[in-house]
Amino acid sequence: MRAQSYAAVIGELIMAANYGLQGPRIGWYGKCFRKLFFDFHSSQHALGLAAAFDAEGWAERCAQAGAQAVSVFIKCGFGWSFYRKGSIRYVHPQLPEGLDMVEAQIEAFHRRGIKTIGYYHTFNSEPIARDHPDWARRDASGRTPEPKAICMQGPVFEEWMLPHLVEVVTNYEIDAMFFDGTYAWGPCYCPTCRRRFREAAGEELPAGPEDPRWEAYVSWALEDYRRIRQAISDTLHAHRPDMPTSFNWAYTMRMPESVPEHVGNLMLDVPPEDQAFNGSYQARHWALTGVPFDIMNSAFLQWWGDWACKPATCLKHEVAPAIANGGLTWIGYQMTHTFDVAEPVMRQLGEALAFVKEREHLLEGAKVVPCVLVLHSTQSHFTHGARLMVDEAAMRGAHRLFLETGLPHNFVDEHWLLNYLCTTPAAERAPVIVLSDQRRLEPELVQALQNYVREGGGLL
Ligand SMILES: [Zn+2]
Repeated sequence: MRAQSYAAVIGELIMAANYGLQGPRIGWYGKCFRKLFFDFHSSQHALGLAAAFDAEGWAERCAQAGAQAVSVFIKCGFGWSFYRKGSIRYVHPQLPEGLDMVEAQIEAFHRRGIKTIGYYHTFNSEPIARDHPDWARRDASGRTPEPKAICMQGPVFEEWMLPHLVEVVTNYEIDAMFFDGTYAWGPCYCPTCRRRFREAAGEELPAGPEDPRWEAYVSWALEDYRRIRQAISDTLHAHRPDMPTSFNWAYTMRMPESVPEHVGNLMLDVPPEDQAFNGSYQARHWALTGVPFDIMNSAFLQWWGDWACKPATCLKHEVAPAIANGGLTWIGYQMTHTFDVAEPVMRQLGEALAFVKEREHLLEGAKVVPCVLVLHSTQSHFTHGARLMVDEAAMRGAHRLFLETGLPHNFVDEHWLLNYLCTTPAAERAPVIVLSDQRRLEPELVQALQNYVREGGGLL
């Protein structure tokens, strides 16, 4: 593993007193520094599913590990649910008779003062692909790229998924919801996507990035997923107005959109390699949004589900840059299909959470003091050719540069920067602003930057 230097991590910890959460969305989530996440994706063939399930025992183990909130699987990556109430859900075919894992977990966690965060996978479902082949995702030749892939831009979203969410939040006292895979990552050529793009853009879906229609597609797809995320939040908030809602990987450095009001918190599961650097990189982007955010590292050595486990020392190395930059921690691992996690793994997770707890008095209520602001424009989707996930080379380079030089820096978008320059007195502004490979600047921002330099600011 290529990690950032230990000196850099310590440097970030020293800065912790100046960093932290601010803004109106703090609530309980913004103070929930210690969380655990456990994958429980289970195929229909998972014989012996939940054979070791013991809600009280599990909640007690998580409490002993120091968790303030823990994931609860609502809908897994195979499309199955693990609860009984309602009628829209597809109950896992191997779920032991009479068992409602969601209800049992929520009750056991709540008895110990631990919050529950519902996990909801959005783009795969064995039973929906089986029952509704017309809702499947399609490639350009009309085939399904993956047997259980469903198209969220098609009818499944309004006809099944939104009603399903109503069923979940009206039947269960889940405290927050977390959605996986709810962003544009490539074209679907199902009949609905073809029709909707034709209606919106007046032309056929492009074959790929080389197609001249690709920019129109990127613009449409990004907007359509904004609609989808908004509709999810609206549906939840109609029943549970204060429920924190998050979308894995949305609003990250690779998808630099301004965070809309309906998003209660931000999160991403950073890839297992170099989680200290990658987590620090993302935290520097979210630190000034005012929205609580999680940097989810994981205990795996290679990839999710490899069953290896990093030592606690390594996990501490990864959670340090998250909390030092105003973030929250949510460490991930994977359960067996019987619903168990080995005790030595729980011990490593517990040690890492204890490291966080020890430092919480430095973190709560702390504020970011901007020093170096690096512009990462929301227009980046269109400045190096149209891309659903932007070219991050310049930003990652800037992060490496400032991290190793020890200068505190943050990534900000053009809306945040313009507002900052227009509302912050010259004497209180960050001393340096960096425009690294930024190719589209609105006239208002150019004017504000000229004033900033005239009044003593440094522009790099
Ligand atoms: Zn589609």
